[in-house]
Amino acid sequence: MSSPYSAYRPIIGGAEHDLIARLAEWLRGRDMAMVNSTRDGGGVAEILRNMVPLMNELGVAVDWEVIEGRPDFFAATKTLHNALHGRPEPLTPEMIRAYWEVSDLNAAKLRERLDKPLVFIHDPQPAGLLRRLKKEGQKWVYRCHVDVSSPYPPAWEFLGPLMEEYDASVFSHPSFAQKMSKPQFLIAPSIDPLADKNKPLPEDFIRRTLERYQLDPDRPLVTQVSRFDKLKDPLGVIEAFQKVKRTHPRAQLLLAGGAASDDPESVHILPAILEAAGKDESIHILDLPPFSDLEINALQRASTVVLQKSLKEGFALTVTEALWKERPVVAMAVGGIPLQVLPGKTGYLVHTVEGAAVAIRRVLDNPVEAQVLARNGREHVRQNFLITRHIRDYLALFLCVLNPGQAVVKLA
Ligand code: UDP
Repeated sequence: MSSPYSAYRPIIGGAEHDLIARLAEWLRGRDMAMVNSTRDGGGVAEILRNMVPLMNELGVAVDWEVIEGRPDFFAATKTLHNALHGRPEPLTPEMIRAYWEVSDLNAAKLRERLDKPLVFIHDPQPAGLLRRLKKEGQKWVYRCHVDVSSPYPPAWEFLGPLMEEYDASVFSHPSFAQKMSKPQFLIAPSIDPLADKNKPLPEDFIRRTLERYQLDPDRPLVTQVSRFDKLKDPLGVIEAFQKVKRTHPRAQLLLAGGAASDDPESVHILPAILEAAGKDESIHILDLPPFSDLEINALQRASTVVLQKSLKEGFALTVTEALWKERPVVAMAVGGIPLQVLPGKTGYLVHTVEGAAVAIRRVLDNPVEAQVLARNGREHVRQNFLITRHIRDYLALFLCVLNPGQAVVKLA
């Protein structure tokens, strides 16, 4: 259940709250669709789940469509995802064939539902729908959640020309922007402060969650919450923790993750993580089912340090979630993370396993300093990375795209 729009007013202030409602009024009657490839798992689904009902409440008629796929399609799109992040993974002709076959099947299913003035496509999985369905007069926007600052060239040769056919594209970080003839917008992702994942929780629930997963509330807890994915570097997390343990033997590590229905890799990665953890009783690996939002919320709140050891990252909502909960964050300086973790202000940015270990020790040894940074982190999120700011930016973008040539959209 999402919270009513009025509940956000005390968090963001009346002026911002009213501005967003007014922007929304200008978009009434212009139907839109958001399209992605999963309803559960990963940041995109997390955002859409909270954003779409709120936009509808604001009077903006947005439908959320999810494409369907087959294993060979999701294997292909995961390869494309990794290659866009820069991994040298080639797309084979079979993968490209599977991509277009599944795009055709989804186009047939969604033809009528996507017959709307504006279609907003998230990431490469549904991107091919444009070639099958875009009609004269419609606007299609591509929302890129991936770090495409240095893609593996064959991956960009596949996606780049497709993106060029969109009327506009949206990136999370300036370094992801591309040489393209169409307008590009920079819009950072966000979290919903009132969703189960982020709302305040009773201490008792947090304690019971720790007990349920056999975590000791009296020992320092280092946590990474992430899909089991190589780019989240779970093995690097374990390596960093093992270094920390040499000086802080009471510390515990929690790697909490799960799978996403559009990500076939996680099942292959989990065994390697379990093997690396070995018999170390201080390392806890939790394979959580979808929609474990309250549990993740509790585990983040109970953490002494939240780690994000990603090798590549679009934005990392897990970092936003931790900062919002005033948790000290140690995170790699990749992708959109430096927008959130400002070194010496909101957390600790690192570049290596060794750096991560040093920063974690620093948090454990200097809890007062770490708490000051974490408090700043919450305010940084409040000002920049809440769902309301995200909706405001999207509404402004929709107005721009639907009113081409108008330099100013009058709000009053
Ligand atoms: N998440 C979750 N269960 C898990 C792992 C992650 O609910 O087992 C959530 C996490 O709390 C965050 C989102 O999925 O809200 C992940 O978003 P992020 O941007 O960090 O990474 P992505 O998975 O999109 O690469």
